[in-house]
Amino acid sequence: MTDNLRRPARPQRVLAALFVDLEGVRARYECLRCSTTEGPVHGADDVTAFVASIRTEHPKRCPKQGGRR
Ligand SMILES: [Zn+2]
Repeated sequence: MTDNLRRPARPQRVLAALFVDLEGVRARYECLRCSTTEGPVHGADDVTAFVASIRTEHPKRCPKQGGRR
């Protein structure tokens, strides 16, 4: 029996952290590249929208992830 499971050679580096507090219904995003914190946002609707978009929205304005030049 061949075990073809592959494990990552090294852990991915954490470059940003998304914090979601489901009890207080708020969320914030901390970018470890530019040391910017976005949020927190409050309320279920705002939190849902924030969580859904921040990972793509922040890099657009992140000075350390200047996008493609
Ligand atoms: Zn950033």
